Amino acid sequence: MQPGFLANGRKGKRKPRTRIVDVQQPEESGPPPSAIVASTPSSSSMPTTSLVVLPAAPVFMRPPRLAGDHKGIFAKMAADPNFRLRFFTPPDNSFVFAYWPDIKHRLLARPDAFTPLSSPARLPFEIRAVPGKGMGMVAKEAIAPGALIVRERPLLVMPATVPVVYEATLNGMSYMPEDVRSTYLTLANCLPKLSQMSGILNTNGTLLDDMPGQLDDYCGVFRNIARVNHSCRPNARPRWDADLFAGELRAQRAIAAGEEITFSYTSTFLPSAERQDILSHKYHFTCKCILCSLPPALLAANDQVRTYLGDTVLPSVMFGPLAQRGMKEFLDLERMLEMGADDSPTLWRPLARELTRRYCAEGKRAMAVKWARKAMEMTLVATGTDGGWAAVVEAPEKTDAWRSPGGGT
Ligand SMILES: [Zn+2]
Repeated sequence: MQPGFLANGRKGKRKPRTRIVDVQQPEESGPPPSAIVASTPSSSSMPTTSLVVLPAAPVFMRPPRLAGDHKGIFAKMAADPNFRLRFFTPPDNSFVFAYWPDIKHRLLARPDAFTPLSSPARLPFEIRAVPGKGMGMVAKEAIAPGALIVRERPLLVMPATVPVVYEATLNGMSYMPEDVRSTYLTLANCLPKLSQMSGILNTNGTLLDDMPGQLDDYCGVFRNIARVNHSCRPNARPRWDADLFAGELRAQRAIAAGEEITFSYTSTFLPSAERQDILSHKYHFTCKCILCSLPPALLAANDQVRTYLGDTVLPSVMFGPLAQRGMKEFLDLERMLEMGADDSPTLWRPLARELTRRYCAEGKRAMAVKWARKAMEMTLVATGTDGGWAAVVEAPEKTDAWRSPGGGT
């Protein structure tokens, strides 16, 4: 899930960077590796040996192009009179889903898409006023890295082109159930020149980046996630779960009780001037977060590291075999990440996986556990499941990489 979706956003400032998402490998959606047991004859006289398979490295791929192409929608509508925006409200009237007919058979047919969500007995946050920022989300208790903060259905899901093309449709949205509408209308609107409905959508909408649409991207507005303010060094990260038709927010580093919960509305690999430019153009505020408040020399150093990570390290980690890198390269990367350049799973996840493999190969249990825990936390943030890492944290010595230099690659 990516914040921001305006189809006619900032133009001509700089060549667009590749938008990257983590994509789970098919193996990770199967049974956890702890359940994968090396086949041994089932004999009461023979001990059974469990072998934990080190979870595979994350696979990165470029997502489909951002649609925002009104021509494609118009051409489809001209060619097919039945191709019109449709609206769906589930039986419990909990949200409105506006969609193009091209996704109905693939999405609405999912049996679990609209069944009730399980929610934690006690929410670890409160929504309250935050000085200088309006409303925000604040932790009521300490939240561990990887932990679920909230999982919720959207109030509204719309094709991303709708706010631009169908302002009138949006204004007259009689489809919205009354209590959903009253919650929706309390959300922030930083674009008062648009209608209230459209301004709120453009201010709070997050891009739902794995909806199976052919012609358009989709955006959603969420009751609680919409209250989360921006930081350039965020402590949380949202993601969209298309199977559950829900957004979730997880801690990507430890959050203390009383700390504001934030996520980044921009790429965290951009230098500060570009981040401020995007925030000012799209959301009409100037960021004063812990990074943007650094003295100029420190901010310049942080910018340099972030740009290096985004422009050089990220493509190399995504497309190069990590196993061939020298250990010094990894430790340099760890130092750069820990100095505040990035807390997201994008780089930490492959780095932690490879370091776990190496420490397992050397038989260094404490270090293997440390990095397996980091890999587990980052996998939870990126995918919503531990991906089999809990079993590695528990018993790294049972992995196929243990004291095996070539294992787990
Ligand atoms: Zn900032």
